[in-house]
Amino acid sequence: MDAWLEVAILKCPNCGNLLAEPVWFLELEQDITCSVCRKTWQASRNLLDKVMLRFEIEGKKVKSVSFSRTA
Ligand SMILES: [Zn+2]
Repeated sequence: MDAWLEVAILKCPNCGNLLAEPVWFLELEQDITCSVCRKTWQASRNLLDKVMLRFEIEGKKVKSVSFSRTA
């Protein structure tokens, strides 16, 4: 069995710090506070890439993680 999570890669417009957040977070139009420079900015305007993470589950444990590109 597989479980999936779509992840967005974001780049802080102030210091260039990279973050990975679930895509649904962008759809809420939420602001993000950078963990490095503490500046707040809009997630959807600073998107670099989106990928689907695939968690291969065996029993109750994650066996491996891979990803595929969306769009
Ligand atoms: Zn920053």
